[in-house]
Amino acid sequence: MKEYKNFHVVDHPLVKHKLTFIRSKYTCKKVFKELVDEVGIFLAYELTKDFPLQEVEVETPLCKTKAQILAGKKPVLVPILRAGVGMLDGFLKVMPSARIGHIGMSRNEETLEPSTYYCKLPVDSRERTIILIDPMLATGGSAVAAAAKLKEVGVNRIKFMCLVAAPEGVKNFCESHPDIEVYAGCLDDKLNDKGYILPGLGDAGDRLCGTKPTPTMPHLGVSFY
Ligand code: URA
Repeated sequence: MKEYKNFHVVDHPLVKHKLTFIRSKYTCKKVFKELVDEVGIFLAYELTKDFPLQEVEVETPLCKTKAQILAGKKPVLVPILRAGVGMLDGFLKVMPSARIGHIGMSRNEETLEPSTYYCKLPVDSRERTIILIDPMLATGGSAVAAAAKLKEVGVNRIKFMCLVAAPEGVKNFCESHPDIEVYAGCLDDKLNDKGYILPGLGDAGDRLCGTKPTPTMPHLGVSFY
């Protein structure tokens, strides 16, 4: 895949370790969600690295000192419904005061183009950094359209965070929105003919919501954990 300056894989042994268990089809809903939250913390750490700081004075039990706090308004996390919602909690663990918006994307049956069916953002979102969230950057169709919708409503500072990216989605997103930095937990091989990421983790929404059963491990007769 061509290199894109705005695409970053969060390369860390703990992210790789956790992703292995996230990928396993035997990982149950509870553990899957916990691991997604944990990886979300690492993604949030990297994504916020360039957030500006301001100096303040703080009084410790011993003396006064100059220290730093985050400058400006808190960012807005905008998960793409439905799977994106399952990836909010990791970010919120490190930045609990982040605001939350929601965006819902669907595909037009005739044109096959993605369109927005729901968009609810904090009223002052234009003054904030928006962090668009979707676990799987597959074809990139909905993420590209969701980012375009955010720009249309006047938001101009946007970052995008995903768990697993496919080269096809990275190309589509990074070429459509070269001004948006993308943070991913890993870059996988390719898409299959149904649009699933290989090796991937299956349907992130189903696994986060428990809408399909977890297979039982053949030798134990129970699911993992
Ligand atoms: N969405 C998913 O949930 N999984 C994929 O592999 C691709 C898109």
